[in-house]
Amino acid sequence: MSDKNLSKRSQQVVWHPCSQMKQHENLPLISIVRGHGVWLYDADGNRYLDAISSWWVNLFGHCHPYINHALNDQLGKLEHVMLAGLTHEPVVLLSERLSKLTPGDLGHCFYASDGASATEIALKMSFHYWQQCGLTSKTDFISLQNGYHGETLGALSVTDVALFKQTYAPLLRHSQHMPSPDWRYAPQGESAENYALGAAHELENYLAEHHAHTAALILEPLVQGATGMAMYHPVYLQRAREICNQYQVLLIADEIAVGFGRTGTMFACEQASITPDFLCLSKGLSGGYLPLSVVLTTPTVFQAFYHDKTSQAFLHSHSHSGNALACRAALATLDLFEQNNAIETNRSKTNYLNQLSHPLQSHPKVKNFRNCGMIWAFEVITDDTAFTNTFFKKALEKKLLLRPLGNTVYFMPPYIINEEEMDWLVKSVVHILDTF
Ligand SMILES: *Cc1c(COP(=O)(O)O)cnc(C)c1O
Repeated sequence: MSDKNLSKRSQQVVWHPCSQMKQHENLPLISIVRGHGVWLYDADGNRYLDAISSWWVNLFGHCHPYINHALNDQLGKLEHVMLAGLTHEPVVLLSERLSKLTPGDLGHCFYASDGASATEIALKMSFHYWQQCGLTSKTDFISLQNGYHGETLGALSVTDVALFKQTYAPLLRHSQHMPSPDWRYAPQGESAENYALGAAHELENYLAEHHAHTAALILEPLVQGATGMAMYHPVYLQRAREICNQYQVLLIADEIAVGFGRTGTMFACEQASITPDFLCLSKGLSGGYLPLSVVLTTPTVFQAFYHDKTSQAFLHSHSHSGNALACRAALATLDLFEQNNAIETNRSKTNYLNQLSHPLQSHPKVKNFRNCGMIWAFEVITDDTAFTNTFFKKALEKKLLLRPLGNTVYFMPPYIINEEEMDWLVKSVVHILDTF
């Protein structure tokens, strides 16, 4: 399979992320030499359907001619310049467009390069905001059970994934996890909406007691991605917004995974008609081309830092903040949303795949089949303790890139996937499930 030599060399010198390197003794790394649309090609010319958008970043397919053209144009002008004391057109245009596209009065854009850094920025800014306001006891963060916000130490503190977190517990700040509104936990007969209201009620009880020490609530709107595509009713977000207002707690919406159309609307918060105090974006922001993240916040937060003294400023920076090439890729990606009428077009793709998926929904090995916008997920009933790896391997044999989260198989395809590719995806997965 693919270039065996390159796979071996990679194992020698590249420490791959989220991987037990020893497992690659038996599972060669696949060396990808090119991408085109939803397809990735290995050195032997095999092609794999990228059904998870390369960790959810690639929105309009690989090597998109329009984004490539924009980047080539930008390369001839300016690749990068530091963003302190200087500015450039791509970062200004991008900030103006994000400000218009995002809900409410979000409009001040602070840039970094990856999702975890966006989380760090939102946490630091929300804490600092209360310091600036004289409410110095507001130092704690709360987050949701099964939430994921990245793996740097601050972000890991508000993440709730034991496997990623336990080892580092002595290094982490304590954060209180609120019950998740994930409808899979609802007792039989209870609606997703009622279950979400119950979870919101527990949030309210907690804050009634602890608001004086709480700076912010961070959550993933509508879909908790990394812990297994848990989906919940938007009423939770409405109640969380009201409760945060009532108790003077800032709301951080981590839309790093769900932003840019994944849940069926441009931003997931729109489905609850709420405006968070901070909106974290990354992953699809640059169409998956280059590392870029941004935190948008409101004039209220921005003004609290606007001062004669440097010491009152938000003194945080990353070398590649607002990188010109990455911003240009993001602008081209936003153009593609308009040119393709992507949100509308995705709606019919969602319907199409849902119709196709009856053999999956009724498959004896499948539990909790669910869909939200361009995300599909289900649990597989199996005794295989190494299910994740087994399924990953079997999918690759079928020329499919799918990487389950535990027993949860999910699809998060690029938005350009066509009907024929969707047919083939579902059929292949049914075949794989038949072997378990
Ligand atoms: C991926 C992800 C992050 C972290 O982003 P990185 O770029 O991997 O650091 C944070 N929050 C959510 C919801 C994510 O899905």
